[in-house]
This record gives sequence, structure tokens and C-alpha cells, in this order.
Amino acid sequence: MKNAKAVVRLAKAWMFARFGKIRPVILAHIVTYKCNMRCRYCEYWRYRVEEMPWREIEKMLREAAELGIAVYTATGGEPLLWKHTSSTLTKARDLGFYTMLATNGLLLKGKKLDADMISVSLDTLKRDRYKSVTGVDALERVKEAIIWASERYDVCLNAVLYGENVDEIENLVRFADECGVYITFEPVSPYFEGCPSLSKGEMREAAGRILELKKEFKNILNTRCYLELVRSGGRFRCLSNLLVRVNPDGEVVSPCYELDYIRAGDVREGLKNVIKSENYMKGVEMAKSCSRSCYLLCYAEPSLIFSNLRCTLGFLKETLERSVRSPRKRQQR
Ligand code: SF4
Ligand code: SF4
Repeated sequence: MKNAKAVVRLAKAWMFARFGKIRPVILAHIVTYKCNMRCRYCEYWRYRVEEMPWREIEKMLREAAELGIAVYTATGGEPLLWKHTSSTLTKARDLGFYTMLATNGLLLKGKKLDADMISVSLDTLKRDRYKSVTGVDALERVKEAIIWASERYDVCLNAVLYGENVDEIENLVRFADECGVYITFEPVSPYFEGCPSLSKGEMREAAGRILELKKEFKNILNTRCYLELVRSGGRFRCLSNLLVRVNPDGEVVSPCYELDYIRAGDVREGLKNVIKSENYMKGVEMAKSCSRSCYLLCYAEPSLIFSNLRCTLGFLKETLERSVRSPRKRQQR
């Protein structure tokens, strides 16, 4: 991780977690719901909500930095459709965050962004399947953008597994390896109605396959701990308050959309006030005993790393190994 301030904040948060005091480490900001795709497993593009004005966003970022949050993620919808995404990432980096952008890649080529990591959604390498899932015939354009970005940024592909694409796991890993980028996998969220689903058996088998591939391919970023959990079909203690999710209009819900959620407040009333509010904490308690085990990466991976010493050590070991053997193209730079 390039940003020293972010590393210090993460280390502090981890130390606090050792004493049972969970602090937020990730600010996941849905900058807009607008999107130029129409994915079958998502309905964000249907939502109509006004985005927060820039001055409120600056204020939220300052407050998040004071709270010791280490990672800022601009997500969506499609964040590159929103006019302030670039300046928000710049501001976040200036404030010492490790900055991430989660994009579908359509508008990525040619963009200059202060992002420490760019996550590009890519679930399939089959043109017809891509079109049928996203509603856009844009696989080649997105692949081009990934190759372009791989020469300028740290890039990670994020593949959502939704049943019919489990036959592509190995091809996706190989494609990422050839491009010199990382890759993560996660099961489709059951949140949106009518989305394709992944059976428990398929999910467990897929995790086993990814674990095998991980022996050969160091560009798979899912931790061993996470994959073993998914393969076993086990439960994890969800520490939902490691991640604060802010909607485009500033609303914060707790614990997550996947479980019943509670409106905790609005960041314009002060981020600190929101995460200390009764409603927010009610959601946090619900999450701890949640039996859904949704395995959503943004909740499951931090929960494991911050609550289980074996997972922390495994994560550090894998991070260290990657720093000496990073994806091929980045070695050549
Ligand atoms: S690209 Fe992302 S936000 Fe847009 S429709 Fe697909 S899943 Fe939803
Ligand atoms: S495990 Fe956590 S993120 Fe998943 S549904 Fe339960 S509370 Fe939500």
C-alpha cells in the first residue's frame, strides 16, 4: 500500500479491534446511482437520487480522515458518469486515504485519476453473455480499457459469480494474468429481486477451484481465509461497522442492504454523529449475529482480517508474497 498514512490508520484500527473496539476503516461512497449499463443482478441504475454537493463531500472526507478511516472507495452506479469523481479521489488521496475506484470500465480509457487501485467489473469473456448480463455489447471496449489501465494503474478485475459463469473462472484468472492485473471473485448479492443466483453447492465448488488456482496464480486477491470459509459454507461474524456505506444523497444505512437495513442518518449531520447513532449501532448488532453469510467481499474480507489472527497473518503473508512477485506486466514497468 503506497499511502503511509493509510497504513498507519489500518494498523491502529487493527490494534483497536484486538481489544474489541471496532473502528470504521473503509468509506464506501456510492457517488451516483446513474449507470451506463443495465446489469441483470443490479437495480441501482433505476434509482433517481440527487448527489451531494461538492462542499458536503469535502466535509465528509475531512471528517472521515479525522475518524481514522484508511480507505476511500468511489463506487456506483458508474462513478465515472459523475462530474466530481476525479476531484473527490484527488481530495481523498491528499487527506491520506488509500483511494479506490470501482467502475464498469466503459469510460475508463484515457482517464487520469488519483486512484491507488481501480477495480473493473468483468464477469465473463463471452461476448453474448456479457451483452445479455450487462445490456451493453461492450466486452471488447472494456477489455481494451483494462489493458490500457493496466499500464498506468494497479487494476483489479472483480468477477461476480452468478451461476452460469462459473465455467469461466479459470479463463478470467488467465486473462487477468495476461493483462498483468489482479482479480477477485464474489458471489452475486441476493439483494435485488430477479437476479440470477448461485446455489450453495456451486459457490462451494467455485471457492475450491479458486483456491486451487491460487497456488499457481498470485494475482488472485481473495484471501485463502475467505475462500476456505466459502468452500466450507461456514458462517463469519460480520463486523459491518468496518465499512461505512454512504449513498449518493448522503444517507447511511446500517448494517447493509442485504439484510434488513435501518436508516442510520445523513452524513450532512456529521459522519461521527451517524456512526454513533442508536440506529447505526442497532444495525451493527444485527450484523454480528447475522446468519446469512452472504460472503460479500467488502464485508466478509475485512471482518475476517480484523477478527481472526490466522486470517490477519495469512493476509499479511499473501500481501508480502505479492510485493515480491506481482503480476507480470507491472514487473516489466
Ligand atoms: S455496472 Fe454496476 S452499477 Fe451499473 S448496472 Fe451493472 S452492477 Fe449496476
Ligand atoms: S453477513 Fe453482514 S453484509 Fe452479509 S447480509 Fe449479514 S449483515 Fe449484511
